[in-house]
Amino acid sequence: MIREWRDGILLYRFASLQEAAGVRHAILTRIGGVSRGAYATLNLGHTVGDDLAAVEENHRRALGIFGLLPQRVVSPYQVHGARVGLVGRAHLGTVQPATDALVTGEAGVPLLMRFGDCAPVLLFDPVRQTIGMAHAGWRGIVAGSVVATVRTMGQRLGCAPADIWAGIGPTIGPCCYEVSAEVADAVEAACPAGAPVVHRLDGHLYVDLPAAVRAQLRACGVERIEEAGLCTACRVDEFFSHRAENGRTGRFGVLLELLA
Ligand SMILES: [Zn+2]
Repeated sequence: MIREWRDGILLYRFASLQEAAGVRHAILTRIGGVSRGAYATLNLGHTVGDDLAAVEENHRRALGIFGLLPQRVVSPYQVHGARVGLVGRAHLGTVQPATDALVTGEAGVPLLMRFGDCAPVLLFDPVRQTIGMAHAGWRGIVAGSVVATVRTMGQRLGCAPADIWAGIGPTIGPCCYEVSAEVADAVEAACPAGAPVVHRLDGHLYVDLPAAVRAQLRACGVERIEEAGLCTACRVDEFFSHRAENGRTGRFGVLLELLA
């Protein structure tokens, strides 16, 4: 991962996506905004209890990295489901209701999604010039948000899974994601048999979200997969973590856009 500062904001990028033609992206952190307390400082979540004026200023700063205005992006209202929004220029400035993934084949349609432990999954097909982004926590893995996103890219925009590059952004790692037996069973059932998606240690169960995303992507035929390798709960100095901060925290943003 490339770690860099832009206009006082700390962000990360995948080296291979950064080098790819026709696309730009940024994985924002919690550093570089104006929010205070549990939301310090670059919180982009409107519904987590933060001061909305601060959240708006954070959007202005974060999108400013790309020279974008808040009314020129498309966002979803994420609900841990598997609905995929196929969007275009007509959707700029809108929030897609009850949606956990976005796909577009149009340039100039920046996708902005928010995370705080769940995995950001970035998808790019350089052949069809198509992008997608999915939100996958354990509920998203069980609901199938990643699989639904790859399918939408294939069925609606003609992408071949073998052409798709996938990046798994900062997410809670197996080091920090202890779950109940019910959750562990549901995640295992949603992934290909034998995939190492639940770790067992001293009678405790830990979900490996990156491994679950990887297993589901491979099962769809996506093979070029890169991982950030950053655990949000281990790294609350740079990321928001719902688990590590007991539910009182913000959301960091991920931006992905096709260029004309
Ligand atoms: Zn960790």
